[in-house]
Amino acid sequence: MSNRLTRRVIDTNKVPKSRVELHLHLGGSVRLSTVWELCQKKGIKLTTNGTFKELVDFCVIKKPGKLIDFLNILSHYGRILVGDADTFERCAYEICEDEANDGVLYFELRTAPHLGSNIVKKGHNDPIIAANHPNACSPKQVVEAVLRGLKRGQQDFGIHSALILSCVCGYPEWSEEVLQLAQEYRDKGVVGIDIAGQEDMNPDLTHSFTQNEVMVFKAAKELGLHRTVHAGEAGPAVNVEFALDSMFAERIGHGYSVIFDDNIYQKCLNDNIHFELCPHSSYFTGSINPINRNPIVVFAEDNANFSISKDDPTVTAVTLDEEYDYCRQLGLNESHITRANLNAMRAAFCSSILKEQLLKKLYSIYGFE
Ligand SMILES: [Zn+2]
Repeated sequence: MSNRLTRRVIDTNKVPKSRVELHLHLGGSVRLSTVWELCQKKGIKLTTNGTFKELVDFCVIKKPGKLIDFLNILSHYGRILVGDADTFERCAYEICEDEANDGVLYFELRTAPHLGSNIVKKGHNDPIIAANHPNACSPKQVVEAVLRGLKRGQQDFGIHSALILSCVCGYPEWSEEVLQLAQEYRDKGVVGIDIAGQEDMNPDLTHSFTQNEVMVFKAAKELGLHRTVHAGEAGPAVNVEFALDSMFAERIGHGYSVIFDDNIYQKCLNDNIHFELCPHSSYFTGSINPINRNPIVVFAEDNANFSISKDDPTVTAVTLDEEYDYCRQLGLNESHITRANLNAMRAAFCSSILKEQLLKKLYSIYGFE
């Protein structure tokens, strides 16, 4: 592992913009300094004494555990965002600056608009949030706020971005509105849908997705909206197969478990399926077990189609440089990392015109012309 707690300080615009990141959650990419500042402002006490050091200790994960432990950290500090459109806009803007500092040319941010609105749990409004935001925002206002932040960030930091709206496992009743919002904002910065959350929560099914979610993904395909699915992260390879065959996923978030099923893995390789790999977060969620063969190494050896992303850098406290360093420690070389960036751009959900332009730029940066 890289020394992720000694984050390098990088001056804006010093790193050439030559990277593409496809898997980044807004709620998992909030600056710790912003979390702390908002806790003070809103009177939210996340830790006993409310000091910055305590907050860092709480938010930054230290050893591998389960996906649910990781998600619990996100939802605990996520209260600073919920129901607050201004905070969503601010965070999206700050993420653009952080991505520019990470040398990113194009990135796709994702957010679950319902988790970010005042709907915290089914039929339940968090009393602290309600007290601070009596007019808590709707999922639609969350989407609009994030788009505003991304637009300002693009202008100020010379970076390209797009937004993916996430459905959430366990909340199938939200999925239809996610689709509607994606359709409504498709020409205004939203490029597709995703499903995230605790993947393996339906042990009775042969896969982790409900009928409602399946219908929504089918409808997205018919509408020409792009689709990515978190699958094969904490769950089995059949989830990846199901996401591809029945939900028409164009990309797979994580997908590590495919390497344990020869048939499914071979099919993914033959079909050139794109995997959004997130090395540090997957190490800490226990999705990559370093004792077994590391799926990242297997994908690289087999020339699989993958990209490298940070997923939730608030919790992992890593930069993209540290993600690449981790991959190098596993044995990946510069060609693998270059190819990951080019593959990311080819698999991006942006318009074909923008994709063409940015690919040209990348070919030039990497010396392929
Ligand atoms: Zn994710």
